[in-house]
Amino acid sequence: MAKENLECSFCGRKKPETNLLIAGLDAHICDRCIEQAHGIVAEESRQSKSEDLSSELTLKKPVEIKDFLDTYVIGQERTKKVLSVAVYNHYKRLLQPSTKEEEIEIQKSNIVMVGQTGTGKTLMAKTIAKMLNVPLAIVDATVLTEAGYVGEDVESILTRLLQAADYNLEKAERGIVFLDEIDKIARKSDNPSITRDVSGEGVQQGLLKLLEGTVVNVPPKGGRKHPDQKFIEVNTENILFIAGGAFDGIERIITKRLNMKAIGYSASKREESLDAENVLQYVIPKDLKEFGLIPEIIGRLPVLTHMNPLDRKTLRAILTEPKNAIIKQYHKLFAMDGIDFKITDHALEFIVDKAIEYKLGARGLRSLCEAIFTDAMFELPSSEDTEFKVTKPYAEEKLSYEKINKLKAVS
Ligand code: ADP
Repeated sequence: MAKENLECSFCGRKKPETNLLIAGLDAHICDRCIEQAHGIVAEESRQSKSEDLSSELTLKKPVEIKDFLDTYVIGQERTKKVLSVAVYNHYKRLLQPSTKEEEIEIQKSNIVMVGQTGTGKTLMAKTIAKMLNVPLAIVDATVLTEAGYVGEDVESILTRLLQAADYNLEKAERGIVFLDEIDKIARKSDNPSITRDVSGEGVQQGLLKLLEGTVVNVPPKGGRKHPDQKFIEVNTENILFIAGGAFDGIERIITKRLNMKAIGYSASKREESLDAENVLQYVIPKDLKEFGLIPEIIGRLPVLTHMNPLDRKTLRAILTEPKNAIIKQYHKLFAMDGIDFKITDHALEFIVDKAIEYKLGARGLRSLCEAIFTDAMFELPSSEDTEFKVTKPYAEEKLSYEKINKLKAVS
């Protein structure tokens, strides 16, 4: 066949009418048909991706959610239960078909966790995101300032979430934001301030809309360093916000409210049943208000829960029980060098003792282990040894007084 008589097997255009005609085995295709076909492929894959997203987000029942949390987080039973229900309701709300106006609208169940640092607040948020397979942004509320001031605008929270979602907007809009140190943006005094409170109340005001659900113009690369970037519209309606904070001193507010004379001292029968060692468990929204969160913020974080302080038993369990417990990780690391790693109960107890003695908390467990195992991790891979056994005397020897002091300084 003469070249000019060739035609596109899809649309029938003759070669001279096309810009490009590509030959296959028994057929030809022109540039226009390629473009059209490409459009169809792209649309198909976009549709199936969004179907994937819905099916990916299978709704787990609260009991299943808690079971999953149990494999990673030790103790904190009450909070695990409260979170499981809140997360279940949140995603139930998200998966419901769009409601008609007269129907009941389920409101967001954003969460606030009150608990000392190192008690597992971040771990809890991370574990939930892992279970649901949704992106998670961990944001420190202390870096946020009111728009126009040095620091980050509240929109930067969503930039982080977009980044965590690899810029997949749909995924980001179903993600989780963990707002750490929410207590640090408390109003400095309970009186609404006359002077501007750049890092406190102003930021709380800025957060309100985000928490409630709104469409925000988000600079995808964040910050003011890229002024020419195109904004992405992010809808926060289905984003779950989990706030956490130590709320240092809130115990006093709770105790005062409960009318206990002093911690550990109880005067009447009713008070005797109160656990003075852990007053955080009695926290109510009013206490957060007194601490300095504005009522509107508290209203938008309707699920309030607390973290218990970590006792001996919990610290000991954290070392060996969670799915990726610290000691399990060392096992794996040594096993990769063909070394069988063993640690005695006495040595484990000793590590826990030191963490308590020097108030290092759960975070300190890891640094203590590092200090004890580093020499072995340095030497053993080049040796013939196939076993490494850590006993209490060995741990004591490696954890000299100076080393402990150094750990104390960094934690
Ligand atoms: P927070 O956010 O409350 O300051 P994190 O979640 O960052 O505390 O906890 C610090 C570390 O301590 C985590 O890496 C985690 O391994 C460990 N940890 C704390 N609490 C627990 C817990 N209840 N169960 C398991 N590990 C915990």
